[in-house]
Amino acid sequence: MSLSPNLRIDFPALDQHVGGKPLVYLDNGATTQKPRSVIDAVARFYERDNSNVHRGLHALSMRATDGYEAARARAAQFINAADPAEIIFTRGTTESVNLVASSWGNTNLKPGDVILTTEMEHHSNLVPWQQLAARTGATLKYVPVAGADAEHGLDLDALDKLLTPQVKLFAFTHLSNTLGVLNEATALCAKARAVGALTLIDAAQSIGHEPIDVQAIGCDFMAFSGHKMAGPTGIGVLYGKKALLNAMPPYQTGGGIVVNVTYEGATWKPSPERFEAGTPNVADAIGLHAAFDYLDALGRPAIAAHDYHLGELACTALAELPGIRILGPKSGQKRGGLVSFAFAEAHAHDVVTFADQDGVALRGGHHCNQPLMRKLGLASTTRASFYVYNTEAEIEILVKSMRRILKFFAG
Ligand code: PMP
Repeated sequence: MSLSPNLRIDFPALDQHVGGKPLVYLDNGATTQKPRSVIDAVARFYERDNSNVHRGLHALSMRATDGYEAARARAAQFINAADPAEIIFTRGTTESVNLVASSWGNTNLKPGDVILTTEMEHHSNLVPWQQLAARTGATLKYVPVAGADAEHGLDLDALDKLLTPQVKLFAFTHLSNTLGVLNEATALCAKARAVGALTLIDAAQSIGHEPIDVQAIGCDFMAFSGHKMAGPTGIGVLYGKKALLNAMPPYQTGGGIVVNVTYEGATWKPSPERFEAGTPNVADAIGLHAAFDYLDALGRPAIAAHDYHLGELACTALAELPGIRILGPKSGQKRGGLVSFAFAEAHAHDVVTFADQDGVALRGGHHCNQPLMRKLGLASTTRASFYVYNTEAEIEILVKSMRRILKFFAG
C-alpha cells in the first residue's frame, strides 16, 4: 500500500509560503514536521491532565502517570522490546548515547578494552566514545568507510579484522545522516555478538522510516529521537536489554530513582526509574505516543517504500546536474530517504540560502560529521531529506531550484 498524498493536510506547518512560494520542506533529517494528532496530544495533556507523575494520588497525577507509562509501553511495542522496563525516556539520541557511555562505559571498561564505532557516525555517536576512552584508558577504533567507488558503505573486511575479543562495544548508525547509507544492522550485531561485544545502534535516522524490531536485530542498546519521527522535540528513547540496564548505575541521581535514602547513601530502583531522575518530560512522551500511533496507522513498510523511493529518485534526478558530487549509494544500491551532494562551483550555505528563496528548505554544512567530511575532502554538503508528506513534484522543484543556483554561480 502506498501513502496517500492527502496526508499533507495532517501537518499544519506544511501549509505556508516561504518567500512567496509554497513551502517545500526537505530538511526532515534534521527534524520532521508534526501531525495535528501529536500537537493535539501535547496540548490536551496541558489542558486537562497536567500534573507530576508517580508521586501523586490525586486524579490528575494518576492520569498523567497513566499517560506517561502508556507511552512507554507503546514505545516498547513500536520497536518490539520484550518489556516496557527496557524503554528509558531521554531527551533524544544524544542523551541516550551519553547515558550508555557514562553509566555502562564508566563501570565496564578498562585499559586494553576496545570501543568500536565507524567513520560515518554523527558526532553524537562519536564524541561520547572519545570521552569515554579518555576517561577509562580504553581504545577507540573506527570501521572505515570504503572509498567513493564502493559508494561509501562500511568496509566489511576491515570490520571482520577489527572485531577482536578486546572489543567490548560496537556502536554504529543504522542510517547515515550524511551518506544515506543503510547499514545491515542484524548482520552487524551478529558479527559483534560472535566476539562477545555489546552493540548500540544509533537509529536516529531510521526509526521514523522503517519497521524496527530490536529483538530480531539482536542489539543490546538502541538510541533514537522523537522529533525525527513526527514526534515532539526534547523526548527520545534509550532501549536496553533489561539485565544490562539493571546492572548499570544511574546516569543522573536525584528524586524518583531511589528505593531508600539515608544521610549516608542511597539504593536504586530498577530500570526504567533508575535512569529517569527528576520530573520527566511527560507531555512530550504523550506526544511521542501519538507519533507512534500516527506512523503505524500509515504503515511503516509503506513509509519506507515511499521515503526511500524519493531518496533514489532525487539521487537520479540530481545526478544529471553538471559538476555535482553525490555522496553515498548510487546505481540501485540501498539508500535511505536522503541525499547529500556538493557542487564544485557553489558553497552549501549559498545553495541553502538560494533554495530558501524558492521555498525549498534544505540543510547545508558538515551535518555533525566533521571527520567524515574531512576524509571525503569536503568542507560541507547540501542535504535534501524526505518524509511521508513529500512528493515527486517537490523533487522536481528541488532540481529546478538547483539549476537556477548553478546558472547564477556559472555567472
Ligand atoms: N545520530 C544521527 C544519525 C543523527 O542524524 C542525529 C541528529 N541529526 C543524531 C544522532 C542526534 O540526534 P539528537 O540531536 O536528536 O539528539
